[in-house]
Amino acid sequence: MAGGTGWVIRPGPTGGAPSVADPATGQPAPVPTVADDALWYETGHAGVRYRPIPRDKTRPLCHALSIDLEDWQQSVFDQSLPVSNRFVASTYRLLELLDEFGVRATFFVLGLAAEKAPSLIRELHACGHEVQTHGYDHTQVTAQDPDEFRRDLRKAKALVEDLTGAEVYGFRAPRFSIVESNLWALDVLADCGFLYDSSIFPMRIRGYGIGGWPRYEHRLRTPGGAELFEVPVATLALRGFRLPLGGGGYFRLFPYACIRLGLRWLHWRGMPAVLYFHPYEVDPDAFRELNLPVPWKTRLHQGLGRRGVLDKLREVLDEFPFAPLRELIPQQRLSEA
Ligand SMILES: [Zn+2]
Repeated sequence: MAGGTGWVIRPGPTGGAPSVADPATGQPAPVPTVADDALWYETGHAGVRYRPIPRDKTRPLCHALSIDLEDWQQSVFDQSLPVSNRFVASTYRLLELLDEFGVRATFFVLGLAAEKAPSLIRELHACGHEVQTHGYDHTQVTAQDPDEFRRDLRKAKALVEDLTGAEVYGFRAPRFSIVESNLWALDVLADCGFLYDSSIFPMRIRGYGIGGWPRYEHRLRTPGGAELFEVPVATLALRGFRLPLGGGGYFRLFPYACIRLGLRWLHWRGMPAVLYFHPYEVDPDAFRELNLPVPWKTRLHQGLGRRGVLDKLREVLDEFPFAPLRELIPQQRLSEA
C-alpha cells in the first residue's frame, strides 16, 4: 500500500457517493488505515488525532449546503413547547430555491420534526436530498451523559430510517454541542454506526466550538480507537484569527459582498465550504405572527436579516457549485478498511 498518500476520492459507481480508488488501478480500495502513525496529527484535545481527507483535484470542487430541520419555538425558544407547523412552510421555501438551481442539500432532521411532518421527510429523501439526524428533541450533548446521548441518537436515527428506508450515518449536534469537554461523544457516534459528524465548530464562540480545531473535512481517531469523519462548517482564517462564514446569524447579518468574498477565497484555495441554515431563517414574519412572549432582544438577535436570507442564498447558489455533504467524505465503512 502506498502509505496513504496518492489515494484519491472518486465518484461512486452511481456517480453519487464518492469512494476511495487506488490511483494505480482505478479500482475501489479501502480507506487506508495504514500503520504509519506519522500521517495522524494531534488535535491537542483529549488525545483525539486527525488526518486530512485527500482531495481529488481532477473533480470539480463542490461546496455543501446543510439545513438543520427544526422548529424555532421548540428548538430555540423553549424546548418544552410543542413543535409548530411553521418549519414545514419554510422548508418548502428552501426546497423551491434548491430546485431552481438543481442543488441537492443535506438535511439534519430533528426527531420531533420528523414526527410532526413525516411526509416532508419522505419527500426530501425521494427528491434526492441527503437526510441525516440532528438528535431527537434538541437537547444539547453538553447536557447529556454518554448513555443519554446514545439513547437520544438511536431513537433519532431509527425514526428517520423508518421514514426514508435509507441508512442514517451523519450527525449534527444541537447548537454544535460537541466541545472539548465531551469528545467522548465521538466514540458513541462511531459505536452507533455513524460515519461522519458535523458538530465541532472549529473556533471558540459564544459558548460553543473548539479553538484551533481543523477547519476542513478530516478523519478522526479517538484514544479509544474509534474512527469517524468530521466535516466542520466553513470559517475563514485571517492573520491567526478565525471568522465564522458558514451560516446562522453570521450569514444573516454579514453583507453579501463579505460572504461572497469569503466563499471566493475558499473556492480559489480549493477548499470546500460547508454552509448551514435553519428553516426559520427564511421565515421573516414569525415574530409578528407567533403568539409568544419573545423578548425584544431575542427578536432582534434571532430575527434581524431574515428577510434577506433567500436572496443571499440565491446569489450563492448562482455562483458556486453545491453537493450534499456526504460527497465530501469517502463512503466506505471505516470498519471495512
Ligand atoms: Zn438545531
